[in-house]
Amino acid sequence: MKAAIYPGSFDPVTFGHLDIIRRSAEIFDELTVSVLNNKTKTPLFSVEERVKILEEATKDLPNVKIDSFSGLLIDYAKAKNVHVAIRGLRAITDFEYELQIAQTNHKLSGGRLDTMFLTTTLEYAYLSSSSVKEIASFGGDISQCVPEFVARLIYEKYGIGENG
Ligand code: ADP
Repeated sequence: MKAAIYPGSFDPVTFGHLDIIRRSAEIFDELTVSVLNNKTKTPLFSVEERVKILEEATKDLPNVKIDSFSGLLIDYAKAKNVHVAIRGLRAITDFEYELQIAQTNHKLSGGRLDTMFLTTTLEYAYLSSSSVKEIASFGGDISQCVPEFVARLIYEKYGIGENG
């Protein structure tokens, strides 16, 4: 069985992430989307909230599981006996950073963990969780960026009602 892990902050999940999830789930038999509990970042949503949001957003994909982890991806992947990590590439600016992480993980895992990159569908190339949060914090329209229920949850966090 071919399995992969898609790790990330997903704070919160956007249509860009969902596009990568959907496409990876067609390539692999089982895909685990795993929320990284990164102690150095102050997230808008807790790990538990992000897991719940991802579960709801992927409920139509039977071979997608949601999980969370802290610490090194290579240790988490080893414990799960998975050898492929998925990452999405939006632009050349993602590439340098992602290449370094992918090579580090490959080296540190003794060649056991490879990273597969999926390039973003063009219509989502501009999307990032941080820009979505910034737009929402000013009451801007994020309906093109995240599912409707996620938009509602983001506005709630910023104390913004249904109509802005
Ligand atoms: P990080 O894990 O770097 O904190 P995210 O949780 O935002 O960042 O993203 C997880 C993964 O999804 C990364 O590989 C990132 O490049 C990718 N990604 C984020 N936004 C998009 C998008 N709009 N299209 C494709 N891939 C994306």
